[in-house]
Parts: sequence; C-alpha cells; structure tokens
Amino acid sequence: MRRDQKEPDQRRSARVDPGPGRGGSGGVLFDAVLLDRDGTLVEDVPYNGDPDKVRPLPGAREALDRLRAAGLRLAVVTNQSGLARGCFTAGQLDRVHARVEELLGPFDSWHVCPHDDDAGCDCRKPAPGLVHAAAARLGTTPQRCVVVGDIGRDMAAALAAGAHGVLVPTPVTRPEEVAAAPCVRPTLPAAVEEILRRQAAVAPGAPRAAGTVLVVRSDSAGDVLVTGPGIRAVAAHARRVVLLCGPRGRAAAELLPGVDEIVEWPLEWIDPDPGPVDADRTHRLVQRLAAVGADEAVIFTSFHQSPLPLALLLRLAGVPRIAAISDDYPGSLLDVRHRVPAGVPEPERALSLAAAAGHALPGGDQPRLRLRRDAVPAPPPQLDRPGYVVLHPGSTATARACPPELAARIVRALAGAGHRVVVTGGPGESELTARVAAAGGVDLGGRTGLAELAGIIAGASALVVGNTGPAHLAAALDVPVVSLFAPTVPYGQWGPYRVPTVRLGDAGAACRDTRAATCPVPGHPCLAGIDPGAVLDALRLLGVRAGTPADPTGAPRRDGDPDGTRRGAAGAADRVAVPAGGVWSGR
Ligand SMILES: [Zn+2]
Repeated sequence: MRRDQKEPDQRRSARVDPGPGRGGSGGVLFDAVLLDRDGTLVEDVPYNGDPDKVRPLPGAREALDRLRAAGLRLAVVTNQSGLARGCFTAGQLDRVHARVEELLGPFDSWHVCPHDDDAGCDCRKPAPGLVHAAAARLGTTPQRCVVVGDIGRDMAAALAAGAHGVLVPTPVTRPEEVAAAPCVRPTLPAAVEEILRRQAAVAPGAPRAAGTVLVVRSDSAGDVLVTGPGIRAVAAHARRVVLLCGPRGRAAAELLPGVDEIVEWPLEWIDPDPGPVDADRTHRLVQRLAAVGADEAVIFTSFHQSPLPLALLLRLAGVPRIAAISDDYPGSLLDVRHRVPAGVPEPERALSLAAAAGHALPGGDQPRLRLRRDAVPAPPPQLDRPGYVVLHPGSTATARACPPELAARIVRALAGAGHRVVVTGGPGESELTARVAAAGGVDLGGRTGLAELAGIIAGASALVVGNTGPAHLAAALDVPVVSLFAPTVPYGQWGPYRVPTVRLGDAGAACRDTRAATCPVPGHPCLAGIDPGAVLDALRLLGVRAGTPADPTGAPRRDGDPDGTRRGAAGAADRVAVPAGGVWSGR
C-alpha cells in the first residue's frame, strides 16, 4: 500500500475515506447467518411442542459446522405463532430448541416471534424485527447477515432489513416465492456452499501495491454505481486511479469515491446504441489509453459483456497487466482471467475481480455502494425538510420503468395516506413526471442531473422506483427502496444492494430473464398489476411512516452512511426506530 507515501491530489483524500471498522470475525461480506427453523433446519411439524419430533434436514449438522468453522456466527429466526394460539407452552418450546441444539450444535442466539398475524407486531416475518434483533445481538448489522429460509416471508424479512437472503425451497414453497427470491439453492448444504463461495470470492489474497491503475466500466449510470465497491478496492492499493467510462455513465463516475481522473469514451461493443467502428477513432482511443500511463488495468463488465476487445486495445497501448472476467478464451490478452458464476450481485462480481487482481477491499470499508460526500448537493429549497417519499417513474429502458398510470395511482395513494411525495425524472421526462405528480406530488422532473437527484434522494425516507440507476443511488445513500422490479434481469444480480428493500411486481412474468429493453409482453404485466396499497404496506414494513417528525436519535443504525453523506444533505428521516421486539428467548 503506497497511498500513505503520496496523495496525488486533494480530491482523492476527500474521496477515499473508509467507514468504521467491521466488527467481529467474519469475512469481507458476512459476519453471521440467520436461519429459519421449520422447513430449513428441521422438518416442519406444525405447532410442534414435542422434542421427540425434532428431525434435522439432511446434511444440516455438517453444513452448520462448516459455517461455524469459517467463523460465521449463527442465529435462529423463527415465527412460532403456536405460542399465541396456545398450541404449546414456552417451556415446551424451550425443550424443542434444546433438542435442536443437541442435534445440530449450538447457535449463538435464538429469536422467536410468539405472535400471530393479527398482532401487527414488528417481529413476525415478513417484518424485519427478528433480523434486526439477531444482528444486534450478534454485534453486527443486518447488511452483514445472510438469512436462509424456505418461504417468501423469510426472504422478505431479510430484504426489508437490508440483509442478504438464500431461499431453500421445500415442496410447500410457492412458485412465486421461488421466482421472487434473490438467490435459490436446492438444499441447506448447497446454500451454505454458496455463502462460503461468495465470502471467499472477495477475500484478500496477497495484497498488491500498484501505481496507476486504469479501471473500466462502460455502460450506464447504474452499471458504474454498482462497480463502486470494486473501484474503491483498487483505489485502496493504487497510487492513482483513472476510470474509463462511457457518456451514459459519466455523471455516476463523478460521484464515485476513489476515482482520480475520468476518461469518457463510448465503446462500440458495450454501448446499447453503438455507432460504427472507425479505424481513426479507435487509433485515437489507443493513444488516449497509452497517455494514461497505466501500470495495470482492471476491466469491469456485466456477465453479457466482453472485456476482450478493450483488452486488445490496452495491449496495443502498452498496458503490461490486464485483469478481467472472461468465459471466452482470452489468449494472451489477459494476465488475470477471472471467472464468476451467473447470478452473483454486481457489486460482489466487481469486488471479486478486484480481489483476483490483488486489490481486495480493505478492512474498514464496508462492501456497499457509496458516493463522494462532496459530490452530493443539498436538496432544493422547496423540499424544506427531509422525510418525503421519492417516486421515480422513468427509466432509460421502458421495460424496467413503472407504467405511468400506475405511478400516478401510487402517488395518489401515498398522498392520501399522508406522505409527502416528490416525483423525479431525468432530462426529457418532464412530461411524464408532470402527469404523475398531478396526482398529489411535488414535480421535480427534468430539473435534476444525477448528483442533484442523489441530493433529493438523500433527504428521502424511501424511494419508490423500478430497476434503474436511482435505485442504486438510494442504496449508496442508505435510503430504503420499494423496488418495482421488472424481472427482465435477475433480481439477485441487479436488486438494490445491502439496503432495506421491499420487492414488488410479478417475478415470474413472461419477460423474466429476457434482458429486454422494451417490454415484450403487451400491457407490461410484471409491473402493471401492482396494487398501490402494496406500496403503502411496503413502506410500513420498511418502518417509513407518514407525517412523523424526524427523530435524530431514532433512526436505525445501519452499516450505511459511515461518511455522513446523508447527514450533510438531510439528517434523519421519517423512519421509526429499529424494533427491539422479537427476542423472546435469548439463550
Ligand atoms: Zn412478533
């Protein structure tokens, strides 16, 4: 690490400022695994109060021991409404749990919701209370936890807390729950394998000090934002970081910590609307790349993009060391050829490439999206206080945008419930936002660049948005997201990363995994069927209340915003405190 020897410029020191250290003994990504009980650890015997009926699922003991050996802490998070219904006593439940530990080994913490659905408690999954409580008890944050469960409620609780989720379906798991899950594995041992694989993929190897590193992420703003953690990892080891991006990603690149210089150049093999390849222009690109004087290059891509054309140009520009993910045979184009299975969250995909290149994210920098604090302006004066809900109806890809009629109905429902609603949109979307905001919101459409939009989102208590760039801004600002997620791309890969989220929309719709930019199904049914009432329910699940005055002491402490990006812009929002409930049995 040579950063302490030389700070290339002052902008840089404002950009790379790791947050507080990660607690505990876990790896880069995770400290703890929170497991559902019935159907996940043991066979589901309805309302079981009898220790003799406890039957572990196949391979559970060995799988849990692998997690323990890897230094991950374990907790059980389980709904047991049988208590509220009088099906068994607390003493019987304790004996059942003692038997579970006898068969499966010790858990660091047990968290039980004793209520039934009518109680309206904060702990019964899909509410996130048990996940918050377990993370707190284990000395970590939900973002550093993985929840493993067998039904949609487990995944919803995980996402609403900002945790990761792995679904292990059973024959009773509904197909729509499987379709909506961020990650699915067939068995508990397979889920554990996936957790350990993801953890290992971003783990530090031998650190590699570097001089000037050229990092590359072409494509749009969202792509650049999700690459941020990987770029910060490189920046932690490099003297100077130059980012090559395309015109669609330039504004996002300006927001990223760790970038010293930006080179903007559209790449014909990446751009969704490419011009013809031109020999003279390509020659000029090689010259421009040579002028960077890079000691190495790290080419970040999505799974459907090839790094090889650029790798060839970088070779021609004389870059001696090149790292990229490539399934295609790279010949001598790459020095570090990295492979990543499909479905990995994009930020982890980038982090794993950085790690393979010798640049793991250092301790103290959480593996979440972040923005430069000095690049996010305060919200405009008409938003006089934080705590509004932002609805962003547009998208560069219409297949991933909220249908305008639905957006207007959502605005009406939110305003009717007492929320202050702000409607945002990019240049060229003023007509759309005016139409949507007419239903009861403040229209800021067309008046914001990406940085100004970040400033507005920073003051929000939640963002309602499709699968598009602003969702990643919210994740970087630690603002909860109601994700109207068109399933044209996998949620586990492109969903808001490590931020409290509720996913809405039909995950099994016909457009699933088509990667379509324009919805191939008449009527855009994956999103058009969303009930505005479900958005209100989602906000409740996220702890966002209408009209509650900001409480600076009551905001949940997540691992987000270590650098105070939100405080500068807004302060605490209309969000209730983390529910303390749910720790019914704290063995
Ligand atoms: Zn409860």
